[in-house]
Amino acid sequence: MTLTDTQATTQKQTEYIRQLKNTFEKMPHDIEMLLFTEKGVDNIFAESTRQVVRAFRELTPRIRLREYGMDHKMAAKWQITDAPTLLIAPDRYAIRWMGAPMGEEARTFLEALILVGTGVSNLSEQSRKVIAGIDSERHIKVFVSPTCPYCPQQAVNAIKAAVERPGVISVELIDIQCNPELARQYSANSVPQTYAEEVLIGQGAQSEEVFALSLKKLEPQTLFIPDSDAELVETDVLIVGGGPAGLTAGIYAVRSGLKTVVIERNALGGQVATTPVVENYPGFTQIGGKTLVDILATHALEYVQIFQGEEVVDVVPGKPFDITTTRRRFKAKSILLATGAKHKRLNVPGESRLSGKGVSYCSTCDGPLFKGRNVVMVGGGNSAVTEALYLQHMGVHVTLMHRRDSLRAQKFLIDQLTVSSIPILWNTEITEILGQDRVEAIETINTQTREKISLSVDGVFFSIGYEPAVELAQKIGVALTSDGYIQKDAKHRTNIPGIYSAGDVEGGYKQIVTAAGQGAEAAMSIFEDVINPYWNRSS
Ligand code: NAP
Repeated sequence: MTLTDTQATTQKQTEYIRQLKNTFEKMPHDIEMLLFTEKGVDNIFAESTRQVVRAFRELTPRIRLREYGMDHKMAAKWQITDAPTLLIAPDRYAIRWMGAPMGEEARTFLEALILVGTGVSNLSEQSRKVIAGIDSERHIKVFVSPTCPYCPQQAVNAIKAAVERPGVISVELIDIQCNPELARQYSANSVPQTYAEEVLIGQGAQSEEVFALSLKKLEPQTLFIPDSDAELVETDVLIVGGGPAGLTAGIYAVRSGLKTVVIERNALGGQVATTPVVENYPGFTQIGGKTLVDILATHALEYVQIFQGEEVVDVVPGKPFDITTTRRRFKAKSILLATGAKHKRLNVPGESRLSGKGVSYCSTCDGPLFKGRNVVMVGGGNSAVTEALYLQHMGVHVTLMHRRDSLRAQKFLIDQLTVSSIPILWNTEITEILGQDRVEAIETINTQTREKISLSVDGVFFSIGYEPAVELAQKIGVALTSDGYIQKDAKHRTNIPGIYSAGDVEGGYKQIVTAAGQGAEAAMSIFEDVINPYWNRSS
């Protein structure tokens, strides 16, 4: 008898819940939580927090929740300033959640429960050494939003640090939707954004080791090189990048018998993780980008080991290749570069200074903070139109700004845009973004009439395309095309024997389905070459 898909899914969920219950049962510590709410005030965030905690309490009696009003003496004792605030295991750790653990943040919440329940930080050996060297108190604030797929990584970094050094490191996770004033005070218009001792130490998600170093030095770091005695992992294929190309390649490579790992420095899924809605991936008439990524990642995890939050920092050619990440070393027979693409920047004055302070490249992450406010979405392609529609749906007053008089987006999206009645500024380019601590206005020019107009706005969202993420490829010596993409043959082989590419980093149509297809092709090509290396063939 074979299982239907629904039966198989239910069986997996039951097994997952059983494992979770088991984990909670074995935890050496009970978890006490204190929730502070405004008495008599209906608050969606407080209610969501109660519901999430209740859901976990159904799994284990080891979790206890006590709730107090802001006027209770406990609120004064714990110096609670905003409601709702949730304290997690306050008898042992200084972890406070300002807002509700909803959406993406539910993942963070689960990790937090396991970390405080076990009392083990789970930091890597490399990070622990750095955190051990911190010699004075660190109070961390991480601004997050429930729609931000990058946030859990950074929030968990901070919680791990607090569990590792209680008494020295304290953490506040601040949901920007619930605390818009506080976010404004810190000009945190982009998430995740991390402060320690009131100093900005990270914009965006950092690998755990880079976060630890930034926390120690109290300034944002970009690189971490592990000690030479870091753990060594041997593998056949090392895939750099956990987007649709990398994850699909992982499935195919393992299924053909190759030992394979995927390394992803950021959130899994690449650009898809922040795409509000996908309507052209076969099998799904309409699906949220993050949901599609979760399905894809769950599928990939059935086969391939994924090292997430780790960044490849060095590759030494050889047979095998010697690869160093921020956490460990790998020896791999072949490498697949599926590093994808990164947001293009316009590079106008004010853009970089106000990045994260009203300038944004991610509407799903930062959109919630602009509810009821005026923003422009720059671009005329599929992404700009999809994201403008998403922002409008969230209650943001969005205007689309395009440099020409026609859009390059697909007709289906243009039709939706027409129905939405989102205003469009045609033939318009931004020349400067103005504002002291946050975006206040933009200077624009009409490309036809050369007329210059200033507009008051609270935010500028850019969706002007992507450029290939080729830094690693360039560092290794992989040849690029004149357009800056990885140069490869029909088998996805680069100029360096044993190094392959797949997905948006190769250029082409840049669709999710094509990236997945390229990943599958590259994995099969690697399999053929490992069995019968083309560089050893006589013809
Ligand atoms: P895109 O298709 O390359 O469009 C970029 C847009 O930004 C264009 O309208 C372009 O204007 C404008 N632009 C570029 N540089 C600019 C500048 N310096 N100043 C002002 N405007 C500028 O990028 P995308 O929309 O991000 O899409 C990237 C790829 O992903 C595409 O292949 C797209 O099809 C795919 N995608 C697919 C879907 C989907 O199928 N559902 C969704 C999202 C993205 P011009 O038109 O004047 O060049």
